[in-house]
Amino acid sequence: MSTYTGSCHCGRVTFEFTNAVVSALECNCSICSRKGALWHATDNDHFRILTGQDDLAVYQFGTRTASHYFCRHCGISTFSHPRIAPQGWVVNLRCVSGLYLATLPQRRFDGKNWEQAAQALTDARNKALARRGLQS
Ligand SMILES: [Zn+2]
Repeated sequence: MSTYTGSCHCGRVTFEFTNAVVSALECNCSICSRKGALWHATDNDHFRILTGQDDLAVYQFGTRTASHYFCRHCGISTFSHPRIAPQGWVVNLRCVSGLYLATLPQRRFDGKNWEQAAQALTDARNKALARRGLQS
């Protein structure tokens, strides 16, 4: 299992995660398009904030489901609780060391049309579960 580490620009906020990076997710919603972030989904079992908990600020808008964290000193967005899975995490791959982003397959999330995009993801997940005979 690999451990990936990342940080904000000034270095106060550092984090690590251990689930494999197989692609980068680009979202076209109003905030992600402005940040230019590339996301990787993880969860509490695979993600840990190492330093800078007190240096983080959080931004919320709209439905206030997502929590977008950023370093209050350097302004860099390191990770978020995404609206699609607010109990989980997405980390900004642009803040992670040792990744060559140009070779990572990119996936797109149509966050500009969030409800339809979220429904499409749910449908795809249910279809996959049904194929494996796990649907309850
Ligand atoms: Zn910082």
